[in-house]
Amino acid sequence: MNHFDYRPASIDGGEGGAMFCEGVPLARIAAEVGTPVYVYSTATLERHFAVFQDAFKTAKPLIAYAVKANPNVAVIATLARLGAGADTVSEGEIRRALKAGVPPERIVFSGVGKTEAELAFALDVGVCEINVESEPELQKLAAVAAAKGVRATIAIRVNPDVGAGGHAKISTGKADNKFGVSFSEAERLYANAANNAALNPVGVACHIGSQITDLAPMEEAFLKMRGLVQRLRAEGLSVERLDLGGGLGVPYFDAPTPPSPAAFAEMVERVTAGLDVQLAFEPGRLLVANAGILLSRVIHIHERPEGTRFLVVDAAMNDLIRPAMYEAFHDIRSVAAPAEGAAQIAYDVVGPVCETGDTFARSRHLPALNAGDLVAFMTAGAYGAAMASEYNSRPLVPEVLVSGDRYAVVRPRASYDEMLARERMADWL
Ligand SMILES: *Cc1c(COP(=O)(O)O)cnc(C)c1O
Repeated sequence: MNHFDYRPASIDGGEGGAMFCEGVPLARIAAEVGTPVYVYSTATLERHFAVFQDAFKTAKPLIAYAVKANPNVAVIATLARLGAGADTVSEGEIRRALKAGVPPERIVFSGVGKTEAELAFALDVGVCEINVESEPELQKLAAVAAAKGVRATIAIRVNPDVGAGGHAKISTGKADNKFGVSFSEAERLYANAANNAALNPVGVACHIGSQITDLAPMEEAFLKMRGLVQRLRAEGLSVERLDLGGGLGVPYFDAPTPPSPAAFAEMVERVTAGLDVQLAFEPGRLLVANAGILLSRVIHIHERPEGTRFLVVDAAMNDLIRPAMYEAFHDIRSVAAPAEGAAQIAYDVVGPVCETGDTFARSRHLPALNAGDLVAFMTAGAYGAAMASEYNSRPLVPEVLVSGDRYAVVRPRASYDEMLARERMADWL
């Protein structure tokens, strides 16, 4: 569920008959901030967090929001106020989480290639857990912690060798992916860590992929994790925490419908029954995807004699790369409410970037649109602005956060001067 809805034409002082984000008409944001622009709904963020938290009322896990899905500080802060922690994969993300008010004792540091400097930073700020993904990383962390005279609290990230996720590029849990260690490696590394004065192994972690719409692979992976916890304990090792990652899918359109957080929680509680561990989760997409849209304006419509109709919009692959990168589907809606029973026209929806890959959708049926009309790319709150770039020298896309009938520009649009001011001429030029 989200808070992007059409309001009847009869209300709102002439601003009705169009899509709103909570109490704010999208057309007003487009007029005042310009397009393209990401728009996020606070009420939707809050609702998604509450639904997940409610599903685990009894277990009271650490819900560490995966910051990479949407790293805007205002988005992180909205979730942090509700009690969310942060799952981070770089020093930059740790800094964002801290700036957003996430206490260090709720920050998890994950990632396959943490540098010495990043590990040192994580130890200095006192993150609650570093998820170690390989033996060289374990050795490096032990050395960094020993040099500081501290003990690093760690979990070992396991690769459960279970395939899952909406696309090959977002599946992380197969043995040939770069993430985590095998179960036998995990047992050896955990025991090594327990014998190292600079390391305090407290748990094990996994994260098998993203946009998962089927509970079966997750259950298979979690059962294997349960087995690991039991084997480690049988060896006399203490295991207090079990981090089961993120990855739950969201509905981008009508099919397939992902499992609800309640069904997910029921499965987790069944699989972990009697294990007596502190659970942690790292949801990203689930919390933010449906809480955001990318608002864009039609530049013009280019009709080919042979019949293809290109809807050229002012958003491009540099603003939203998911369709180009993962063949991802985004529902596209006219911001003006379409007339009841209005005819649909097939458009190829494209951006201005000089790449054929800059195509959001082919033969998409939409109500008739004209130059200057607004469209909304739905379900764009996750891995949207987060992956935006300035490709084709298009200034970084701005972001707006709505709450009720207010909105704030939480990342302003950079001017061309600001964009160019970051670069320097070489002194020989
Ligand atoms: C990306 C990532 C997540 C979040 O994945 P979602 O599919 O957005 O829930 C969680 N944990 C780790 C380690 C990740 O890399």
